[in-house]
Amino acid sequence: MLYESTRGSVKGVPSAGAIKMGIAEDRGLFTPESIPSLSQDDIRDMAGMNYGEGAAKILSMFLTDYTKDEINMCVTRAYSSDKFDTPEIAPLYKLDDNAYILELWHGPTFAFKDMALQILPHLLVTAVEKTGEDKEIVILVATSGDTGKAALEGFRDVPGTRIIVFYPDEGVSEIQKAQMATQEGRNVHVIAVRGNFDDAQTGVKNIFTDRQINALLEQNNMSFSSANSINWGRLVPQIVYYVSSYVDMLRKGIVQKDEEINIVVPTGNFGNILAAYYAKIMGVPVNKLICASNKNNVLTDFIRTGTYDRDREFFKTISPSMDILISSNLERLLFELTDHDSDYVVKLMSDLSTYGRYEVSSELKEKLQEAFWAEYATEEETLQCIKKVYEATGYVIDTHTAVAMDVYEKYKSKTGDTAKTLVASTASPYKFNASVVRAILGDEGVSGKSEFELLHVLHEISGMPIPKELRELESKAVLHKTKCSPDEMSHAVLDVLRLNT
Ligand SMILES: *Cc1c(COP(=O)(O)O)cnc(C)c1O
Repeated sequence: MLYESTRGSVKGVPSAGAIKMGIAEDRGLFTPESIPSLSQDDIRDMAGMNYGEGAAKILSMFLTDYTKDEINMCVTRAYSSDKFDTPEIAPLYKLDDNAYILELWHGPTFAFKDMALQILPHLLVTAVEKTGEDKEIVILVATSGDTGKAALEGFRDVPGTRIIVFYPDEGVSEIQKAQMATQEGRNVHVIAVRGNFDDAQTGVKNIFTDRQINALLEQNNMSFSSANSINWGRLVPQIVYYVSSYVDMLRKGIVQKDEEINIVVPTGNFGNILAAYYAKIMGVPVNKLICASNKNNVLTDFIRTGTYDRDREFFKTISPSMDILISSNLERLLFELTDHDSDYVVKLMSDLSTYGRYEVSSELKEKLQEAFWAEYATEEETLQCIKKVYEATGYVIDTHTAVAMDVYEKYKSKTGDTAKTLVASTASPYKFNASVVRAILGDEGVSGKSEFELLHVLHEISGMPIPKELRELESKAVLHKTKCSPDEMSHAVLDVLRLNT
């Protein structure tokens, strides 16, 4: 299986190369030249496998240049019981007769990004070794919260790698800041930037493309890489849980052979829902992929009208991991839906950067709407949904999952569709506890309380055990105290790597 760029000038790259490079030289995204399909035998085999074995099976269908041993090694290190708090890794929870919650937050940082970022470092190190290099990989991340912590946990103490995370000093929650500032590991560095997320992101992009810094790294046998969600090595592990949860539904008799399901995904950068689309192409019988957005509803408009328009107000919401106006992974979908028409993708992407918008052909719009249904939830609807689900079932969902549930309710009432539905649950309610407690108890429930105190309030409400790492967070030693201004970021990187002369 070889990979090609969505922008057409790079082709025939093995998966190790695609994962090592992250993004193609023509700025396009690596995409498999064809999608493997699941046979009835494959599905039957998977029914007898645990999560790791199923992951190895799916990964080896896409990463054909990795040996079985290499894949098994990566999977075993990623999906182990000291990283995930349940042996099922991604368990299904039956909410009612239609909705099954796919809990993707049982990893070390309690959000779904662990599903991919626990394995990406191993795929990356293996890729570097396979391509005959012995360079130390230096991962740079700018984070608004979730990704930074998940990347730190994924790369900590992975031999041959170092990770440097920049976060906006005033732009992350109390818990997120504590999670990063107390990060342990011999190869991790965390730096607060005096600025907002955009400042941190721009700083990181500048360092990535700085010739002098890159040359200095090269001389010292190091090279930069990124853990960004456009890396194919982050996408492919996400296909696994859609296939394995479907197989789970079959095995448990929730659905019969060939019975179609819906999949609802709270969407930001379009990575998670794209993985569900790939699972559908592989052969999971899917009726609709339901794209749920928050108030930043650029994708809802796109799927409804065929026009993508980023020129709009940006909102900071209570589901911050979905606050995004440019969904990078959408480029891969456009490439797939046009049967790999890279000229067309290049035109759309150039329209987006020149005019802030693009409009797809009516043929493409039709294909888009055949596969996807889209809607969004307002802030108020998100809070109400948490309360409603809690009052009806006792189950507590986080704000991102609530966006998905609210949109699913709208889908059901608009279409009357009662097909069994997987709802991707992307974060533990403990991770966004202030909004969750406010949704259930109202403003009085949260006023005057720190996020650490609210962990205990949420425990009273939900009965769910407080994750040990979060409970102990407040008393953990702060290990990272470095702060810098945006224009000091490159200096800080060289300091950390001891390359300052
Ligand atoms: C990243 C994230 C999302 C959005 O996922 P995409 O793949 O970017 O669409 C949703 N919920 C949570 C909790 C996240 O961390």
